[in-house]
Amino acid sequence: MSFYQQLALVTGAGSGIGRATAILLAQLGAKVIITDRNPQSLQETQQQIQAQGGQAFCETADVSDWVAMQALAERVHTQHGVLDILVNNAGVATSGEFLQTPIEDWNWVFSINVMGVVHGCKAFGAEMAKRGTGHIVNLASAAGYYAAPNMSAYSASKHAVMGLSESLRIEMAEFNVGVSAICPGVINTNIVSAMRTNGETVQAQAKIVDIYKKRNYGPEGVAEAIVSAIKHNRAIVPVSPEAWALYAAKRAVPSVLDTVQRTALFRKLKP
Ligand code: NAD
Repeated sequence: MSFYQQLALVTGAGSGIGRATAILLAQLGAKVIITDRNPQSLQETQQQIQAQGGQAFCETADVSDWVAMQALAERVHTQHGVLDILVNNAGVATSGEFLQTPIEDWNWVFSINVMGVVHGCKAFGAEMAKRGTGHIVNLASAAGYYAAPNMSAYSASKHAVMGLSESLRIEMAEFNVGVSAICPGVINTNIVSAMRTNGETVQAQAKIVDIYKKRNYGPEGVAEAIVSAIKHNRAIVPVSPEAWALYAAKRAVPSVLDTVQRTALFRKLKP
């Protein structure tokens, strides 16, 4: 499969995995529409793509806003045509024990991580199905099959993305549109410094940020996995050794994970 002149749209392309994916798709010859709620970081991504001779078009949009996503789809369909590739990547994180996580944070993380993906699939999926080709990539997480303690809202949101992707994959196969759920482990991006924490000290959050930095698995590895998932129409794609280990353990010996969960990263980091 060639990505040359394919029309791709990546949400949350102003940082981390979204930026790396947009850059890689452009390097492979795709025309990439990059979207984010942050226009400044979006422009930085565009400059990086254009500096390498790639094609990128900026569109500021908040994925949690259905009206804005419908307007975005209308503009894209009029100005560029039907998407070949949709990457629903924009996401945020929360941490903290369930009892200390306010409803406002549940609504916030679900409005972006779950409804943002639903909005993307709804706004662009119908035209892809009508044409009879395309691929939808949804950013889930290893937390989409491994529910670690102290991140119930985030884990629940990513389990929802897994369920949505599995169901949609079966429905969209009829229209020759592929659907993949990408499940990264610990990837060094801005996500943890931007996350909402509850009941944890500033030092505990700094420790998590430090672990992500030291782990130093870059978003470029996830971008490669996304491209490969599209090429081979893969259903579920764990990325990083820890994501693969948890995926295998969850399928083969789920009870072992109970023990792992009790000593999980975030639990150990409790103040
Ligand atoms: P990041 O914070 O580096 O980038 C996220 C981008 O999404 C930012 O540019 C941000 O402005 C944008 N964004 C956030 N809310 C938005 C909204 N409402 N509308 C539009 N854009 C919005 O994070 P990342 O690590 O690159 O995360 C990308 C995706 O990968 C997320 O869905 C995340 O849950 C998932 N993921 C990340 C990791 C990790 O360890 N970094 C692991 C598993 C899954």
